[in-house]
Amino acid sequence: MVSVDELKAKVVESVDRLADELETLSLRIHANPELCYQEENAHAWLTDFLASKGFRVERGVGSIPTAFRATIAGAGPGPSIAILAEYDALPKIGHACGHNVIATSGAGAGAAIAAALGRLPFAGAIHVIGTPAEEGGLGKVRLMEAGVFERVDAALMIHPRCGTRVWRPSLGLIKVKVEFSGKAAHAASSPWRGVNALNAVIQLFVSLDAMRQQLRPDARVHGVITHGGDQPNIIPEYTAAEFYLRAMKREDCQELLRRFQACAEAAATATGCSVTVTSDPLFHDPMKPNATMSELFRKNLEHIGFPEDPEDPETGYGSTDCGNLSQAIPTIHPYIRIAPDGVPGHSREFADWAKSPMARAGMVAGAKALALTALDLLADPQALRQAKDEFAGLSAPG
Ligand SMILES: [Zn+2]
Ligand SMILES: [Zn+2]
Repeated sequence: MVSVDELKAKVVESVDRLADELETLSLRIHANPELCYQEENAHAWLTDFLASKGFRVERGVGSIPTAFRATIAGAGPGPSIAILAEYDALPKIGHACGHNVIATSGAGAGAAIAAALGRLPFAGAIHVIGTPAEEGGLGKVRLMEAGVFERVDAALMIHPRCGTRVWRPSLGLIKVKVEFSGKAAHAASSPWRGVNALNAVIQLFVSLDAMRQQLRPDARVHGVITHGGDQPNIIPEYTAAEFYLRAMKREDCQELLRRFQACAEAAATATGCSVTVTSDPLFHDPMKPNATMSELFRKNLEHIGFPEDPEDPETGYGSTDCGNLSQAIPTIHPYIRIAPDGVPGHSREFADWAKSPMARAGMVAGAKALALTALDLLADPQALRQAKDEFAGLSAPG
């Protein structure tokens, strides 16, 4: 019987052998950024890659054309471990969240296990699940609703960042759309006959900036005007803006929404407009930690010589649809360094780092640590049991 340590050594070598192929795939996805739910090329390239490594690939799972599930079976029935791959990009600024690195470290982890071990020497299965539309599309929630995660016991993925951290919180998030309606009139000859919907949306931004001073330190309110009027000689009769309201706890997000609505109504009253506030029924949950799985991941990072960085108190937190999954099953979402300290996500600078040699190193390390942690969970039923007990609140986190 081969020991788990020997299996792990084989898998680490296997990632190294695949590294050139994975980097080529990563750069290809990076050079062809695709927005949420439109990731046709990334979906095709990743599923072809996994099929070529012996995975059973199901394309378009959960009725989402750009989602997939690729499976390697083990020695009989047992637990299912999912390694997640994201691959959507951002409008205009491309792979500024580095999801090309998530895609290839996730697919690379699975491929390395398949290449090194063939059929898994444990009961159970490993899936690589392609989860589209992280950037505002809540793809994982749609996959959860479609039952794709129903028989998954634990899930793991990595996210690139300007420093390696096994655990960082993510914020709850409510998406809100606000629309003001006024009355069009000639902006020079009879402006007093108009009702200015642009003034209303500007007033809303001013009120929110005043409100900001009294918000909790973890709260974030930020928006863009998506329709500001049509032409300078027409008093704008319709304006629209979209906002994200975020805080560490769900109830604090609800409180933000209440205060946001009051600001929107005040802006409407002040300008004589009418207002509609529409909040998205889908809520981004904050990440639920799983110290058991995080600790396995941390040990595996140390094992491969890619240790955690110290926490950087200067950077805050984002949100992820992985938060929703983490509230349903034990899930980890550690961060891997692909950029120097302080480079913000969602910047053009970060997009450049996502195709750098540092991104390759982070992708390789991520693939190794994901693969080794998935093996730990299958090789040691006690470890998975502990992760599930912790999730269920049956044991104190380790
Ligand atoms: Zn992002
Ligand atoms: Zn991201």
